Amino acid sequence: MNVLVLGAGQLARMMALASKPLNIEVRAFDVGSNQVVDPLSPNVTFGDLAGGIEFSDAITAEFEHISHDVLAICEASGKLYPSSQSIKTGGDRRLEKTLLENANVANAKHKVVATREQFDEAINTLTLPLILKSALAGYDGKGQWRLKDLSQADAIWQDIETFIKEDTSDQPQAVVVEQMIPFDREVSMVGVRSKNGETQSYPLTENHHTNGVLSVSLAVDEYQSLQKQASEAFEKVANALDYVGVLAIEFFQVGDSLLVNEIAPRVHNSGHWTQQGSDTCQFENHVRAVCNLPIGSTDLVRPTAMVNILGADKVPDDVLAIPSVSVHWYGKTKRAGRKMGHINVCGKNKPELLTRLTKLASILPECDFPEVAEYINQLT
Ligand code: ATP
Ligand code: MG
Repeated sequence: MNVLVLGAGQLARMMALASKPLNIEVRAFDVGSNQVVDPLSPNVTFGDLAGGIEFSDAITAEFEHISHDVLAICEASGKLYPSSQSIKTGGDRRLEKTLLENANVANAKHKVVATREQFDEAINTLTLPLILKSALAGYDGKGQWRLKDLSQADAIWQDIETFIKEDTSDQPQAVVVEQMIPFDREVSMVGVRSKNGETQSYPLTENHHTNGVLSVSLAVDEYQSLQKQASEAFEKVANALDYVGVLAIEFFQVGDSLLVNEIAPRVHNSGHWTQQGSDTCQFENHVRAVCNLPIGSTDLVRPTAMVNILGADKVPDDVLAIPSVSVHWYGKTKRAGRKMGHINVCGKNKPELLTRLTKLASILPECDFPEVAEYINQLT
């Protein structure tokens, strides 16, 4: 079988790696060059989108910010999974919020704002502090503003007005103004839904962000009641979209409750630990689902953590001397803050995992992995 992935980054690459043993061939559509490429060797090209569609039995996406024209062409072939509506919903915070409201899933209070009047009304209706997020094209904390007190309102609005004016999206831009949630921690759930509506979810992952970007994920499978809440939210969202494939949901934990932050209609960075920590990794399960194959067990086989490599193109060789450590590089050119790869670490049990993580943190240079050692120390 053949799969075409819209987007030619690390997620397409890891789908290709996970698909090989199943004899599934993955090619990727690079939205920058409009060429179909080999996700493992992007210099190897196979022609245009039409050829890629012809080649494929199933088409999927590795990110949600894809032009609606491309989505429409792919959907017309009858091979696109998840649907264009699911992908668009993940790429537009307005649609995302409407979906959460309609599916009755708890999330932060919000208002959609495109004018100064609406901005003032949002400030008056919601309680400060507020977080403002671009409706389209937001990722890794980009396109966000924080309003802590009223004196900042004029300056922030000026910034947003310029941002909206200069936006080049193919849809009208706006901002979603959201109540800041005083969360205890951030967790996420990755789950998979098959074409016949079967769902399975992976254990909840605890996520630590550094400068607005995910830096460490920890999967230990010890949050029973939260797991149940998260699985229910996953099912509501996935069923509402008649979703096919892997879908991630980011949550804020407040006391014993979860509020949805956002959804990602794709494999997700906080699910990379599944490559070593689960029966079937998220990449294989996504490909299985879109190819209409049975989905695999999402059980955690051993406590696992993932550390992102952000902006560095090497790590000390001694990292590999730690038992149950796997390093995954994405083959990208080095750029400050860029997701270059990740490190998975496993243990038979949580104490063993934490011992290995502590050892890893002591080897990784603080300049390339800010806050990582601090976060890991606080876990032990
Ligand atoms: P990413 O691509 O990393 O998921 P993003 O740009 O899509 O990020 P969000 O996940 O919505 O944006 O926000 C980034 C981070 O900002 C969150 O992980 C969280 O730490 C913080 N944040 C977002 N919304 C809120 C909120 N309502 N209350 C408190 N913190 C928030
Ligand atoms: Mg997020």
